[in-house]
Amino acid sequence: MAIHEILKMGDPRLLHIAQPVIEADSDAIHLLVADMFETMHSVNGAGLAAPQIGVDLQLVIFGTDAPNPRYPDAPLVPRTVLLNPVITPIGDEEEDGWEGCLSVPGLRGVVPRWKKIRYTGFDQYGDPIDRTVEGFHARVVQHECDHLIGKLYPMRVRDFTKFGFTEVLFPGLDASADD
Ligand code: ZN
Repeated sequence: MAIHEILKMGDPRLLHIAQPVIEADSDAIHLLVADMFETMHSVNGAGLAAPQIGVDLQLVIFGTDAPNPRYPDAPLVPRTVLLNPVITPIGDEEEDGWEGCLSVPGLRGVVPRWKKIRYTGFDQYGDPIDRTVEGFHARVVQHECDHLIGKLYPMRVRDFTKFGFTEVLFPGLDASADD
């Protein structure tokens, strides 16, 4: 396993439509997933998309089986590996919430997201995933899957009075890493 460099905003590889995974349950996919979890944990991230480490595939990971020390009050999102995801909003209700991104270090912004979604796809073994979720879980999925269509959260910010440096917006919060 290896910790990979996380690409930062401005790198054109973050702006691509990612390629679908053709073959799950392969050595290459299992190694990629292991590396991505190691990389995400090394920076206490809440999620990571393959394009963020320069891999042009529709693969995201998110969630944890234990509370994230940086988000101790956030609802627990189950540890998930998601390939070739499809998101369908349920209803038309949006919700604002603060987001950060490992590819946009040091910044936070308020981003509107669908409040409730259904997401489908496959896990790393090729088994189907089909979940209906809302709130923080739905936000994490939408943020990570945006990386697969070349969207970074600042592109979704509508109110730029709620976008800035973490250390200024949230003094005292550990800003040594962002997700
Ligand atoms: Zn991100």
